[in-house]
Amino acid sequence: MTPLRAEPWRLGIVGVGKIARDQHLPAIAASDDFVLVAAASRHAALDDHPNFASIEAMLADGPPLDAVSICTPPNGRDRIVRAAIAAGKHVMIEKPPGATVSEVAALRRFAAERGVTLFASWHSREAAGVDAARDWLARRTVTHVAIHWREDIRVWHPGQEWILAAGGFGVFDPGINAVSIATGILPHDLIVESGTIFVPANRASPIAAQIALRLTNDAPVLLDLDFLQTGTQSWTITVETTGGTLHLNEGGKRLFIDNAEIALGADAGEYPRLYDRFAALVRAGQSDVDLRPLQLVADAFLVSRQERAQPFDF
Ligand code: NAP
Repeated sequence: MTPLRAEPWRLGIVGVGKIARDQHLPAIAASDDFVLVAAASRHAALDDHPNFASIEAMLADGPPLDAVSICTPPNGRDRIVRAAIAAGKHVMIEKPPGATVSEVAALRRFAAERGVTLFASWHSREAAGVDAARDWLARRTVTHVAIHWREDIRVWHPGQEWILAAGGFGVFDPGINAVSIATGILPHDLIVESGTIFVPANRASPIAAQIALRLTNDAPVLLDLDFLQTGTQSWTITVETTGGTLHLNEGGKRLFIDNAEIALGADAGEYPRLYDRFAALVRAGQSDVDLRPLQLVADAFLVSRQERAQPFDF
């Protein structure tokens, strides 16, 4: 691996699209740990930084790098992550960590062999209410869970054709955020039992899904995903326990116990927290690759019935 120099570590970003611009660039600019020194994107370019058309070109011809943050869609990311690890860089990747479970498991092994940090980030786990929800649930018996993740694809993913292509996850692209929170807060393992996945006639990935899971204590869990929700959007997790009901609303930002809102501490924001965590992992010489959300989504595809839905166009 590249010998670590004094911080801030020199970072290259790959895939300059919506999430890179909306979240990564401001979080990196505010970080004491990282400084952005280069970008690699096939078409997009950043002002005031050297730009390259591929990670290979950035690694070969760009300024020296300590770390790389990868913000491309999951399908095709494997080759990019592998190139960064092979070059001895510490790597942070957007969710979902890859297009398949096997490729991410192999990347985890490759990073360990090369002695670099691989951080498969789950930004929704950094939402303000998640840690408090986990602490509250750890002391209770869960009896029922309902997850509703219903958003308007045209508002949140305008023109992102890749998301409904094969390997794009469809509605599981936001849905895996809910699964990342659920696996982070619920005190038992989740098992997928059955489901129905709705795929538009002109697309390869689902526009909606209804998945039945259970916890290993036998509590039922409903996962309700919809990409065609207009009007009020919902990103909610409701957990009933023998000791009260927890609502985690707005994607994990607000927490209610028995309908009373819980005051949460100062919120640094999901992406500043991710970069702090990446820095802590690099400092500690560790990786963090939790495959459970990706495995559960893969399991949902394995056991669900597929139904054809109306053609969809942006
Ligand atoms: P996006 O707006 O489409 O940006 C991704 C960028 O990656 C593209 O602009 C493209 O730039 C580059 N790219 C490289 N290979 C590509 C390929 N085969 N197909 C399409 N683009 C490719 O997507 P995004 O919303 O930023 O999402 C990227 C990742 O961030 C996804 O894993 C997503 O789940 C995650 N994420 C998104 C959001 C959100 O709200 N949008 C939130 C959290 C996480 P070039 O054409 O210049 O190469």
